[in-house]
Amino acid sequence: PEDVHDDAMGTYLAEILEHTAADTSGAVADYIPQLRAVDPGLHALAVTTADGVSHSAGDDGHQFTIQSISKAFVYAMAVDDLGLDQVITAVGMEPSGEAFNEMSLEGGTGRPLNPMINAGAIAVHPLLDGSEHDPMAGGREHHTRTEAVRRRTARIVEGLSCFAGRELTVDFASADSEYDSAHRNLAIAHMLRIHEIITGEPAEAVRGYLDQCSVLVTVKDIALMAATLANNGVNPVTLERACSQEAARLTLSVMATCGMYDASGRWLARIGIPAKSGVSGGIIGVLPGQVGIASFAPRLDGAGNSVQGVEMFEKLSSEMGMHLMSNE
Ligand code: GLU
Repeated sequence: PEDVHDDAMGTYLAEILEHTAADTSGAVADYIPQLRAVDPGLHALAVTTADGVSHSAGDDGHQFTIQSISKAFVYAMAVDDLGLDQVITAVGMEPSGEAFNEMSLEGGTGRPLNPMINAGAIAVHPLLDGSEHDPMAGGREHHTRTEAVRRRTARIVEGLSCFAGRELTVDFASADSEYDSAHRNLAIAHMLRIHEIITGEPAEAVRGYLDQCSVLVTVKDIALMAATLANNGVNPVTLERACSQEAARLTLSVMATCGMYDASGRWLARIGIPAKSGVSGGIIGVLPGQVGIASFAPRLDGAGNSVQGVEMFEKLSSEMGMHLMSNE
């Protein structure tokens, strides 16, 4: 595994960052205190090839909470743990065309339309069974979470860590502060309970889902996580399998149609790379068999996607000929 800084690709990534830094439009997410407090001038870009060579530039050591980017990987984990037939009864695969936190459930079944919106991710999260390992043993967080939540969070941290090739941790302070005002996510979870899409306690599903969103990563971590999807589920640095080839393919398909909130159609047309973004300002993109790309810049546009991140991807896609629907 290589981690290259002084190279042509690194210089090129730094140039992209310099170019996109000029756009200071948009605003950082302000509904979680930890996100509101972030330095809006931070930015980073990383690429990791499907055979494990990494390049990065900018604030590539800055840690941020993974937020919605986790939804893609946890979906892959659920597909492997339960099989698609069972997962599909809890969550569909159609774009919703609505905001990430919409109470968007399919008429008739009550299923969320896809796993990339909150309703879908809150339905998928409790499908995962807990791990024996308790990462919070003895900590303050231990007392505010049920055993089911602790075990499930442990399982998800283990799974995400396998994609990232290092042991990730949770920013529990961020998760707790978000939980204190999680009325909309709690309402979504109660709706899911009414439709029997989830069977346990709605509050537990939201607790665990917010722990999942609060896993700390750098842009380099999520580039390698994306490269793992590009490499059919095998982490190209550790050579550990993080998910099956089928789960990687399904996840990338759902990312392509639903990964960029209600700007997913526009993103696919303009940039042409399966992607997932999160409110902390990260975006991952995956070119199957080739590369994982990750950007970080905290100011968001009206759809909730990083303004500079979208511009970084736009530049990369057009200059490097990465659009999947084009045959240049
Ligand atoms: N913690 C966020 C929420 O559920 C995740 C949102 C996101 O990144 O889209 O509101």
